[in-house]
Amino acid sequence: MMGPILGIDLGTTFSCAAHLDEGRPRVIINPEGAAMTPSVVGFTSAGETLVGDTALRQAVTNPQKTLFAVKRLIGRKFADAVVQEARARLPYKLLPAPNGDVLIDVGGPPITPQEVSALILGHIKTYAEAYLGQEVRDAVITVPAHFGESQRQATKDAAVIAGLNVLRVINEPTAASLAFGLSRAAKGNAAVFDMGGGTFDITLLEISGGVFQILATNGDSYLGGEDFDRKIVDWVLEMLKKEHGLDLVGEFQVMQRIREAAERAKRELSFTLETEINLPFLTVTAAGSEHFQKTLSRKLLEDLTRDLVDRAFPLVEKTLKESGLRPADVETVILVGGQTRMPLIRDHVTEFFGRAPAEGVNPDESVALGAAVQSGILEGRYQDIVLLLDVTSQPLGIEIENDGYEKIIEKNTTIPTRRTKIFTTVENDQRLVRIHAVQGEEARASADVSLATIDLVGLVPGPAGSAQIEVTFEIDANGLVKVSARDAQTGREQQIVVQPASGLTKQQIDGLAIKERSKAVRKKAHESA
Ligand code: AMP
Repeated sequence: MMGPILGIDLGTTFSCAAHLDEGRPRVIINPEGAAMTPSVVGFTSAGETLVGDTALRQAVTNPQKTLFAVKRLIGRKFADAVVQEARARLPYKLLPAPNGDVLIDVGGPPITPQEVSALILGHIKTYAEAYLGQEVRDAVITVPAHFGESQRQATKDAAVIAGLNVLRVINEPTAASLAFGLSRAAKGNAAVFDMGGGTFDITLLEISGGVFQILATNGDSYLGGEDFDRKIVDWVLEMLKKEHGLDLVGEFQVMQRIREAAERAKRELSFTLETEINLPFLTVTAAGSEHFQKTLSRKLLEDLTRDLVDRAFPLVEKTLKESGLRPADVETVILVGGQTRMPLIRDHVTEFFGRAPAEGVNPDESVALGAAVQSGILEGRYQDIVLLLDVTSQPLGIEIENDGYEKIIEKNTTIPTRRTKIFTTVENDQRLVRIHAVQGEEARASADVSLATIDLVGLVPGPAGSAQIEVTFEIDANGLVKVSARDAQTGREQQIVVQPASGLTKQQIDGLAIKERSKAVRKKAHESA
């Protein structure tokens, strides 16, 4: 008998877990009594590791050792533009790893984003076990649809470090559509508009006869709730400068207080037309204590953030085009991610598709609920969902001459899939070919994400162009990639599961496996179960 399987939505700002309770997906409540757990890890001066609400609560007094939004870093290179942008404004410090990945400095040995995510997942595993009264080993984990290979692999590695056996990695919007589809017996074309704390994803799918066929998906890894918060923070800073002559940008504690107040104000303005941002004793100057108190209206918030909302829609158009649909062909619009509670976003979506989004979908919980539904599909539980056909969100291929890029698998290809293309040598008597697997949409290989290199050796000498090298890419149902290359003449083959260009080795993952959980977690788990 299999134990419970967790469906986990590992979010940028919040995470959520669900399980199947007699075939119905249900959210698991954390020890604080909430469905959503902050994706935050804090390392205290007393040497404690805090995760979730307790970590968030001490963020103001410990800003440099409180890690949040690590999902924006996971599986990326230090040199990645997204990482560099984050680095400029995160209160904690990032470092390059020897292999070019990102490390986080928390005093002592630096840690990887995978380990931080593992602490969050370990925390969820612990409270889920307390809630369910059983040990949990297996999980279905969700990732943004636009996550590439390295980000998927790194997320999976984080789960392994946390002691979870990952049965499946699925895309967040796909999970949301499953949760929605199961509860409504939905059919027809649907759009999932997903804006969470850190990222935006748009996915179009067709539901018919219990088959969920994803048609196309696109995303922006730098468009989410945090960007809205930042607009408010910038406004507060500007007001402080203008009216108080204060420049507080370098003051981590003050900045953390402003960030928290901004996020709270943003949430309130989804339900009210005006709110007050009140920050007493913000700082002390020669003139005495400085306080901040100002009214922020929904109208002003909308003016401050309209450009962010506008950035989402070209991607929606692109995705419609890729799936061959017009806005009017979309029968159901599902909103996912806390940021979609903003009325400006709902209004834009309604106007764009010419119909109101589906009611009764909880934008925070539907991804975790869908992950739990996926666990039921894997167990063969449902008759009404027979098949889930997801697609690749980015093309895959290999580097060719002059920094060129030959695609082998196009984006929006249904997975699992396997494609082979034939390549040849560029020089006479070439004995070795180096196959460089890359992922991305840029025409130059160097502008795409490098996945791995494979050397195929022992080619039979001959004129340029005489060798016949078959390169095969396979993508499994988790969206994870395997590349192989075969010399047709000698039958010699090289095969690797993509990984080496970044990420942790199997040995490193084993070494990091969480053996002891943080004290705060252990003390509290249970009571509210
Ligand atoms: P998620 O990752 O889906 O939990 O989304 C979290 C994001 O949604 C955060 O940036 C929150 O600030 C934002 N959010 C949550 N509730 C609201 C709300 N009522 N109005 C606007 N944004 C919200």
